[in-house]
Order: sequence, then C-alpha cells, then structure tokens
Amino acid sequence: MRESLVVMKFGGTSVEDAKAMQRTAGIVAGRRERGLSAVVVVSAMAKVTDQLLAAADAAGRGDKAGALALASRLRTRHIDTAAVLVTDEGVRAALQTVLHSEFDALDDLLRGIAAVGELTPRTNDLVVSFGERMSSRMMAEALTQRGLNGTHVDARTCIITDSHYGKAAPLENAIEAKLTELVLPLIEAGKTPIMGGFIGSNADGITTTLGRGGSDYTAALVGGGLYAGAIEIWTDVNGIMTTDPRICPDALRVKTISFEEAAELAYFGAKVLHPATILPAVQKSIPVWVLNSRNAENEGTKITAMAAKCSSPFKSIAAKKKLTIIDVVASRMLMSHGYLKAVFDVFDKYECAIDMVSTSEVSISLTVDSNQRLPEICAELGKIADVKYEGRKALVCLVGEDIRGHNGIAGQVFTAVSHVNVRMISQGASEINMSFMIDEDDVEEAVRSLHAVFFANPDATVFDVAARVPVAGA
Ligand code: ADP
Ligand code: ASP
Ligand code: MG
Repeated sequence: MRESLVVMKFGGTSVEDAKAMQRTAGIVAGRRERGLSAVVVVSAMAKVTDQLLAAADAAGRGDKAGALALASRLRTRHIDTAAVLVTDEGVRAALQTVLHSEFDALDDLLRGIAAVGELTPRTNDLVVSFGERMSSRMMAEALTQRGLNGTHVDARTCIITDSHYGKAAPLENAIEAKLTELVLPLIEAGKTPIMGGFIGSNADGITTTLGRGGSDYTAALVGGGLYAGAIEIWTDVNGIMTTDPRICPDALRVKTISFEEAAELAYFGAKVLHPATILPAVQKSIPVWVLNSRNAENEGTKITAMAAKCSSPFKSIAAKKKLTIIDVVASRMLMSHGYLKAVFDVFDKYECAIDMVSTSEVSISLTVDSNQRLPEICAELGKIADVKYEGRKALVCLVGEDIRGHNGIAGQVFTAVSHVNVRMISQGASEINMSFMIDEDDVEEAVRSLHAVFFANPDATVFDVAARVPVAGA
C-alpha cells in the first residue's frame, strides 16, 4: 500500500467554472501541504455530458445545424472559462489552442455523424468523451498555476476496458500495468497527475465510457491500481446523507458507513456514488471518503470495511426511479421446472438487469430499468406466458447493517407509508436492505415519511446530529 498517496475525484460541480476549478486546486494543495501525493480525476464541467449527448443525438437524426450549435455553445463556455482561469498570457493562449483543436475535432465528428445520419454506441462514446478530455486539460493548468506541477494524462491510455460501448467493463490487470508504467513515475517525480474520469479505451485504442456517473469508478480503479492509501470523492454535499437532501433538506450526514451498505445505496439509486465504485476499493481495503468541495472543512463520510455499531436500524434511504414492473403469468408454473430459467434467459439475451423479483405459483413479477428493448423482451416472453408491463415505477430502499438486530421493523416501515400503494416488497438476502416498489409520483412523499420516522432520534455516534437544521418554531 502507498499510504501517502490519495486519489482525489472531483465531480462536475467541482469544476463547473473557473472559480470552482481554483477552489478544487486549493483542496489538492491542502493535501500536498500535508505531505501526501495526489492523483486527480475530474468529471466534465457540470451539465456538459448531457449537452454532448444531446449534440450526438441531434447529429444522429441528421440535424447538423442543431448539433453544431450545441458544440459551439460548449466551445464558448470552455474558452471563456480558460480565459478567467489562467493568468499567464502565454499559458492561456496555449490552453485555448488545445481546446480549439479539440472542438474542431468534435465539430468534424458531428458533421460526419449527421452526414451518415446514424449514431452508433461507439461514436456516441467518442462524442461524449470530449467533456472529460477538456475539463482535465483545464484542471491541469489550474494545478500548475497553484504550484502543484499538474501533469495531464489521457485517461484512455490507462483505463483499459472491454468494448461494451456506453458501459464498458474495466480490465483491472491491464489498468494496473498502465498506471504503473505511465502514472507512477510522475508521482515519484513529485508531479500531480490529472486525468478525466468516465473515459477509457479498448485494447485497440478505441474510446469507451464506463457509464453515467462513471468518474467515481475511474477514481476507484486508479486508487486500486496504484494501491493508494485513500480515495476521496469530492462532490456538492457534505457526504453520504440519510437520504437525498434534494428530497429531504433535513437529511443528516452519515459519518461512517460500511462498503456493503454504501454499495447497496449506490445500486438502489443514491446518485452520490456510482454503483461500481466500491469494488476496487474493497478488494484492496482502501478507505473511501465522500467530501464536499464547497465545504472542504467538513469531515465527510468515511466508507470502511466494518459497519460502526448504531442504535438506529437504517443508515440511509435511497430511491430509484424510471423502473418498469413486468408481470409474467403462466398457467401452471410449478409443473415445469426450468420455467424461471426460460424467463430469465430472455432478460439475459437483451442484457436487461433485473432489480427485484417475486414469484407465486403461477406468476413472476420483476422490475427492470426502463429499457428501450422492453417491447421486444415482452414479445418474446409472450411466447411462454401472458405478459403485462407498467412503467413509471420506483423502488425505495432502506439500508442498514442493523436491520437484523431490530424486531418489528417491517411493521414500522409499512405503517410509515400506509397511505402509499405498495406493489412489491423484498428484504434483501444480504439482510442489509429492505425495499419496496411504488408509483414514481409517490416517491418524495414516501421518502419524507420514512425519514421522519427513522431519523427522529438519530444515533450521534454515526450521524452528524450537531448539524441538524432546527425546525422553524420548534
Ligand atoms: P458529482 O457531479 O459530484 O458526481 P452527483 O450529482 O453525481 O455529483 O452526486 C451528488 C448528488 O447526489 C447530490 O447533490 C445529491 O442530490 C444526490 N444524492 C442522492 N442520494 C444521496 C445521499 N444519500 N447522500 C448524498 N447525496 C445524495
Ligand atoms: N461526466 C459523466 C456523467 O455526467 C461522468 C461523471 O460525471 O461521473 O455521467
Ligand atoms: Mg456523480
């Protein structure tokens, strides 16, 4: 383990403009002043990925003018940010030249896509990669300006993946070898390597991406590959909270949480961490911190191997929207073994992940992410059973290692949401989550009701009770 090495990942809001980039450089400087070495991973500037996707989509529909107009707005934003960010005239001009040539390449690409009128997953990844490519170039200058010797590394030279465009799987041995060859010498020379998250390349050097929110995953892969002492995920909230603070403004920071709990939360929709982030860190027992780049003094959340003892049954509540429930009804399910397999094979064929399953003698209900291939999946299932599906569903998931130690929890949960129509219920085999399916429109209300019940008297050793916003009039 390299105890004095920290991998610091900054999300889109932490690099959203010149001021945010300077603040971020200051946070990295703080770590260096403590005698640590740092590798920095950055997301694209806030909202850039969405805009690149929109440009790619427009080009794919043959709307060349629309695609180029979006790219032109992005060009202006990046060039203007560079102008404010870099004080040295020569350095600023050089950076802007690099950015212009990247944007010229993006324009060419969009024109090509529009001419063909077809957007493939491979080309989509190439378009969307520009966001991280540019933000990392800019942050390298911000770090150098701060005296940290920022050295840009093209993430695509290190993050080697398979060819599953849009959601590529990293090849960890190859990544470790590349990091050792290309990044380690920079650290040893006292530099601060900086790369874009989210992007990688396959063995043939073709650009791939790790899926939305994938910069967290890059940070964990880099931390794992370099045997870092810590991985820090810097975002726009104080840490992992008892629920999404956008739903419950009185959500509390969770001071420590286990890898297992954090993974469950991420999988069930807590956007604060990409679901795959935890694994590379777990494999090497590297602690992960979630921290606030707008409030760097706050302690954040520490994710560790063991869960702290906690008198509250749950640590946090997550919600995942845009799900579809599928009911598959066969006449005599028990009679034919292999029936479940036949059903699951259909989902497998279309690479459609299933979140929750419940069965009875004649029916299976499953929930899946709303998937463009749902009509095909249901048509195929229709050959072996009656199939109905309904969209706009959501899964609410309560996570905590101490569920096991508490009796009567299910009663309390369903009393809290008794005014909501609950479709499916599951208590995970891991015994650290309880989840249920409801209509999307009921999510906010259900989460607030649960939060009010389960975090009324939070355990001060695990939750940041001192920060609780006093309720008006109380
Ligand atoms: P970044 O761009 O830094 O990766 P994200 O937008 O991906 O940031 O994730 C941070 C957001 O995750 C927060 O602003 C918050 O609204 C949301 N979020 C959802 N659930 C939680 C939770 N349990 N704790 C903290 N934040 C959460
Ligand atoms: N920029 C990418 C996204 O918006 C990856 C990330 O930010 O983690 O999904
Ligand atoms: Mg994120």
